[in-house]
This record gives sequence, structure tokens and C-alpha cells, in this order.
Amino acid sequence: MAQVQRMSRLMIKTLRDDPADAETLNHKLLVRAGYVRRTAAGIWTWLPLGKKVLENVTRVVREEMDAIGGQEVLLPALLPKEAYEASGRYDEYGDLLFRLQDRKGSDYLLGPTHEEIFTQVVKDMCSSYKDLPVILYQIQTKYRDEARPRAGVLRGREFQMKDSYSFDTTDEGLVEAYQLHRAAYIRIFERLGLDHRIVSAVSGAMGGSASEEFLAPAPAGEDTFVDCPNCDYAANTEAVTYKATAADASAAGPVEELDTPDTPTIETLAAHLGVPASATLKNLLVKVDGEIVAVGVPGDREVDLGKLGEHLAPAVVELVTAEDFVGRPDLVRGYVGPQGLEKVRYIADPRVAPGTAWITGANKENTHAKNVVAGRDFEVDDYLDVVVVEAGDPCPNCGAGLQVDRAIEIGHIFQLGRKYTDIFALDVLGQQGKPVRVTMGSYGIGVSRAVAALAEQTADEKGLCWPREVAPADVHVVAAGKVLQTELALDVAEKLNAAGVRVMVDDRAGVSPGVKFTDAELIGVPKILVAGRRSAEGVLELKDRRTGEREELTVEEAVARLAARA
Ligand code: ATP
Ligand code: MG
Repeated sequence: MAQVQRMSRLMIKTLRDDPADAETLNHKLLVRAGYVRRTAAGIWTWLPLGKKVLENVTRVVREEMDAIGGQEVLLPALLPKEAYEASGRYDEYGDLLFRLQDRKGSDYLLGPTHEEIFTQVVKDMCSSYKDLPVILYQIQTKYRDEARPRAGVLRGREFQMKDSYSFDTTDEGLVEAYQLHRAAYIRIFERLGLDHRIVSAVSGAMGGSASEEFLAPAPAGEDTFVDCPNCDYAANTEAVTYKATAADASAAGPVEELDTPDTPTIETLAAHLGVPASATLKNLLVKVDGEIVAVGVPGDREVDLGKLGEHLAPAVVELVTAEDFVGRPDLVRGYVGPQGLEKVRYIADPRVAPGTAWITGANKENTHAKNVVAGRDFEVDDYLDVVVVEAGDPCPNCGAGLQVDRAIEIGHIFQLGRKYTDIFALDVLGQQGKPVRVTMGSYGIGVSRAVAALAEQTADEKGLCWPREVAPADVHVVAAGKVLQTELALDVAEKLNAAGVRVMVDDRAGVSPGVKFTDAELIGVPKILVAGRRSAEGVLELKDRRTGEREELTVEEAVARLAARA
């Protein structure tokens, strides 16, 4: 049977002040409430209370992974480099990878994620279509030498991840495994009490096609995403698309040059002409695989180089430098306009729709041109959505003004396809007796990060405030007084424990009731049961940590009430 956790015996030290090096709420509160200690930058020790919360998250993840037929395994974290060399990631990961050597000088790494090794395991174990499909998962320590491990447990250099991998012989099978994971993740985050959004993601370095991220909105998050206040649309900022509508240009006059001395920037130009920046067309020059390309966006918008890079990948996008203008009289720095760019590929944002008229560079020093109409005076070679999304941009779904919010990435699901199975030639014998190349998905949840994300989302000014499923106990009994109160507290704690309620009791001698209350609120167990003034009558006070609601109950009533929710 579970034991009552007595605070008099618990290894805990609560702090009144935030640790000096803490920048994020989860770091401050998890340290102050005695859940974790920082061992080194991005490396954490989980103390007894923290370990309980981590275990609770792990249990929920494990139960839901088992429910979709996942089989739990445990692969090593210490890995020989060869598999990662075969995939190219030994180099691609660069400084993110922890590398080390054994006594013989052979190279190893500490696993940042395990696609390569799982592919090898399945190649080793499965030879026929009858062995598939299979979903394998592990809950394991991962290592990434993060550049900025400053967000507390949110971004560790050593952290806990649930990673799973699906292997199928057909594309339909992969889609099914992906959907199973998607549904399991929704259940996991709902059970954990994590507010989350699912956004489509750009699959980046992992390769492959369909991919979605699970984001937990929180100010401490390092991701930004857009959220529609009116419908259920949510997306990665890089994935938002804008629907252009063509304009009627018949009323626009002919192109006219304007004398605009000393106006090489949009700000100076708009001020000189007394027009809004949105009336001007900004032309950013970039190099795409070394070739100069112009990118046109409305003057009040910024080009999102990440988005542009995603559109043009695998081509490499760089900014131009002064040297690139040498020998290019057609490119007049600060006064570029698309109407004169004969030899330059012109990419434009959809807002530069056919028929829209602009004030833009005249391709002459100190000169601009007005009434420059898209489709009449210049052609757009490619329309690409390349501007930085801003709050108020229209929702692609319903047209309402979008919000831009910060979030923590708590999970990620990928249909990898055959990227790794091609590398390791993972085939099984198909139904027709011919080898079939296996297709693969990969799915991650930041288990330790989920603890930090929960702390960020649920804390209030008094401290942590856990949802019951993950809390280190269901109820925190406080002995607010001396012998009588302590006896009553221990008595009710034992009865609660016997009724299956997870209970923690503050039976510390020589600690004032005020300190005990402050600690209970900082620790954040969802219910606080106080043995105080009316202990002689056997009456306790039950307080809800979140709402602060209080009621007086006898021991029997308290046990019945709390056990009913167990
Ligand atoms: P990020 O963009 O935050 O660096 P990632 O996209 O590199 O994360 P994945 O490779 O998709 O992360 O890993 C799967 C999951 O593991 C992530 O969704 C996240 O929840 C978690 N995770 C990744 N890096 C860390 C870290 N340094 N500390 C804690 N959890 C992490
Ligand atoms: Mg990710």
C-alpha cells in the first residue's frame, strides 16, 4: 500500500526567493518549491516531489501509448557514431550533439533522438510483412547540447522524451499509425490538463512530409504561433497563408517618376511623400544559390527569411552585400523597382496581387515611381507567401483578425516516409514474395518539458498549482498547531491513505502555521486540508488550492469527500 508522505521526513527545502539565475516561471517555482535542483546548465536533479510529478506524466504517456498498441522498449542513450554517419546527422547536428570517445578512441554520441537505431532494430527483428505494422516506443533520457539552456526544465541539455516510431508496409498504414498517435497525444495532453493547440509544421531537418506540432500556449514559450479568436484555426507562423484578391487597375494612371532625394528607406520615402508605408512596394534583394533575386512586399511588411528559405529549399538564401552591386548598374541600391528589373527573378507576396498599384523605386538614384501596376508594368515570376505574420492579419479560414501568441512545443508527430528505411535498406518480404520498402513515422513528447509547461500554465502568484492527475499528492494535510493538531492531521492522513487517496501531511514540529500554509500553496497540491482551530471538535478545513474555496468538515466527511474523487 502507498504510504503517507510525511513532510517531517521528506527531503525538501522551500525557498522564499527566486534563485538568482532563474529567468522563467517554471525554473523559479520548481526550484523554490523543492521539485528540482540545477546541477549544471540545462542539467537537472529531480528531487522526491519532482520525481513524483515526472512519474505521473510518464504513467499517463505510457498508458496512452499502450492503448494504441505501442510496445515499450529501451534503447541505449550511448550510441556508436556509424548509424548517424550513415544518415548524415552526425555532421548535420553540428554542435547540438554530445560526442565522446571510448578508451580505444572509437567515436560515440549521446542520443538526441533515435530514428537511425530504431530502423536498425526493426531491420534486425522483422523480415516479413507479417511482422508489421509495429509501433515501438521508449521513455528515455535524451541529450542535446542546446545553445541556450536557460529556460529551466523547458529546455534541458539532458531531458526526458517519449519517442515512438511506426513501421508499415503501406502508405495507408503510415497514415493510420500517425492518426493513432495524434489521437493518443490529444488524450495525453487532456489528461495532463495541458492547454494545447495542434499546428501544422514545416518538417525541417527531419525530412519527410506531413508533420504537426502540439503547442502549449505560455508566455515563456520559445515558439510563436497564430491563433484565430473566432474559429479553431491555429498554425505555425511560418505556415500561415494569405489569399490574394486581384485588384482593378483600370483607374490607375500611367507610371510617373517622382523626385525623391535622400529616400533610400521606406520610412524616409513615406515621410517625404506623406503617404502610408503600405502604399509603397519594398524590394528586398537576396541571393538564391548565389543568383540575385528580388522579393517584393508591401512597404509596411517585413520579409520572413525563414519562410522564404522554406519555399526555396533546398536552394540556399543569403542577404546581398555591397560587393554584389559591383558591375550591376541595373541594381540601384535603395531605389530598386520591379518595372526595370529585366534580368532578375521577381518573387512577390500575394498582397502584390495583379492590378495593385504601388509607389516603388525607379531604378535611378533619388527617384521613385508611382502608379506602378502589378501585371501591367511588371510581371511577378513567383507568388510566395513571405511576409512575417502580424496580429490582425486575416484568418485563412474565416477572415477574422489573427492573434500571434507564444507557446511551448510539447509534442511533434511526423510521417517520415522512407527517409531512414532507404538509408538502411529496410525491406520486408511482401505478400507477393517480393521485398517491400518499409515506411516510417516518428513521434515525440517532451516528458520533462511537459512538467515545466504545466508549471508555466497553471501557476499563480502563490506558487505551483497542479492538476490532480500529475500532482505529487491528492491532498496536502496541514497540522496548524501543536500536539492536538498534529495528531488529528496524522489520523486523517492515515484514513485518507487507507481510502486510496494520495496524501502528504505537514507534520513538521517547530514550523509555524503561516510558513506551512505558504509552503502548501507554493507546492501546489490541489486540495489543502487544515487541522487548526477546531481540531478539538474533530473539525478540519478543506481548501481548494486553485479557487481558494473553503469548507469545514469532520474527519469522516473529509475522507468521504476526497475518496470520492480518487
Ligand atoms: P525545439 O524546437 O523546442 O528545440 P525540437 O523540434 O528540436 O524542439 P523534437 O526533435 O521534435 O524537438 O523532439 C520531440 C520533443 O521533445 C519536442 O516536441 C519537445 O517537447 C521535446 N524536446 C526537444 N528538445 C528538448 C529539450 N532541449 N528539453 C526538453 N524537451 C525537449
Ligand atoms: Mg520539433
